Amino acid sequence: MLTAQPGRRAVAVSAFDLPDAQQLLLHGCEDCACPVTTELPPPVADRLDLTLSQGSRWTCGPEIFEVRLDAEHRLLFNPVGSGGVVVVNDPAYRIFRCFQQPSTLAEVRAALRDSRDDADAIFDRLRQLEIIYPVGQPVVRPVFEVPKVLTAWLHISNACNLRCPYCYVNKSAEGMDEHVGRATIAAVARSAVANGFRGLKLKYAGGEASLNRRLLVRLHTYARTLSARHGLELYATLLSNGVALPRPLVETLRAEEIRVMISLDGVGSDHDAQRPFMNGKPSFRFVERTIAQLMEQDHAPHLSITITNRNAGGVANVVRFALERNLTFSLNFFRDNDCAINFPDLRYKEQVMIDALLDAFAVIEEHLPPWSILGSILDRGQLLEPRQRTCGVGQDYVVIDHRGKVAKCHMEIERTLGDVFRDDPLRLVQRDTSTVLNLLVDDKEGCRDCTWRYWCSGGCSVATFRATGRYDIKSPNCGIYKAIYPRALRLEGLRLLKYAAI
Ligand code: SF4
Ligand code: SF4
Repeated sequence: MLTAQPGRRAVAVSAFDLPDAQQLLLHGCEDCACPVTTELPPPVADRLDLTLSQGSRWTCGPEIFEVRLDAEHRLLFNPVGSGGVVVVNDPAYRIFRCFQQPSTLAEVRAALRDSRDDADAIFDRLRQLEIIYPVGQPVVRPVFEVPKVLTAWLHISNACNLRCPYCYVNKSAEGMDEHVGRATIAAVARSAVANGFRGLKLKYAGGEASLNRRLLVRLHTYARTLSARHGLELYATLLSNGVALPRPLVETLRAEEIRVMISLDGVGSDHDAQRPFMNGKPSFRFVERTIAQLMEQDHAPHLSITITNRNAGGVANVVRFALERNLTFSLNFFRDNDCAINFPDLRYKEQVMIDALLDAFAVIEEHLPPWSILGSILDRGQLLEPRQRTCGVGQDYVVIDHRGKVAKCHMEIERTLGDVFRDDPLRLVQRDTSTVLNLLVDDKEGCRDCTWRYWCSGGCSVATFRATGRYDIKSPNCGIYKAIYPRALRLEGLRLLKYAAI
């Protein structure tokens, strides 16, 4: 007979229990072909035959991942399910453990001395979140969402006032002109409609996109018109180095609901070590001022933090900087590229990166934000929504350079496939097999049996190919990912404990 402390109710909570759960999700980095933050996928227990609930035997999923959170709570996570993180207290955990042997609900009730009154509710919770399943109906794969939004990287400026050593852009003074820009917007809207997307996400990027801000504003007005005409939801982000964003531009961005992503790689000298001006002078104090100005203008930015060997020791500090200001942020690993060839000191060692991330995670634990960090602290991986591919390359992502040429990935912006004047950009990237291949994780050697396969998806294809000459193999960052996934889950469990008022 299993016992619980007298008077303690069994409790199980997930992200669905948080007020404003939808607003508290943050997908991806804004720097890549990451999904748009739209909505929390619903629990998917309806794929299990729940008419079997009362009389049938149920059992625990075979791969359930457990982490102890504190003296009374644990986290449960099914890496092949779609229910996400579940936090249970000890009485609820004991109910879960009853299902290690296939059992009916009645048998579990009978086995409990206390918490019997809670057994039905916990049973419902655990099956809805795919922690337990009916014997004979094992959950072997999560439900994968069909992409609903086409994302377009619009390279509106090839110029930049900074000279970051890890940047993959061969910069020039050129910018996109209005003729190319309008053709680009029309082409990506056509692609979205023709391929049945519900929405369009535009990333105004470069170089430094704000150097071509008049065009940005005009193009966005045009994009709004076309989106309304075609019934497309429109999302947009300006990716900026944050050196200077004039106040009237910020007013417009706010009014037009164009989010701002600022690259900030450290506090003070950690940032300056890898994001100097063209003349070598430091840029941190300019970026810090812009961030403060954006907050003052009620248009708080998202911070994108790129980690190299140079700034790894300062990642925890910049994470603290973000959290103290209530700013969302993402952590991205440096990806080697031809332009960075002369800067070997950017390349990190596995343990250096792990240490940097764990220091940053400790700061997150100290200042747990209300939003979930599972979509933004795992480089190209995430733990919010199961995926078969790391990113949208070749599926729901197009890159358009300043001349209107189409590429598959911004890291390969010079490997163009056609242009917006003659081609359907999405069809071009979907058909291409000559540039980056974004394979399913189950097709990557080393990934097929990995616990994290549907969350990591095997890492960035461009980075893996550069390191190994292959697309069908696990990421060179695999050891780092495996070290940090459990730690990130723990942070999510602590967030639920803090904000779900168990
Ligand atoms: S790269 Fe490593 S952690 Fe990622 S899915 Fe493959 S084996 Fe798993
Ligand atoms: S291939 Fe790599 S760099 Fe390109 S969009 Fe995907 S994750 Fe990002």
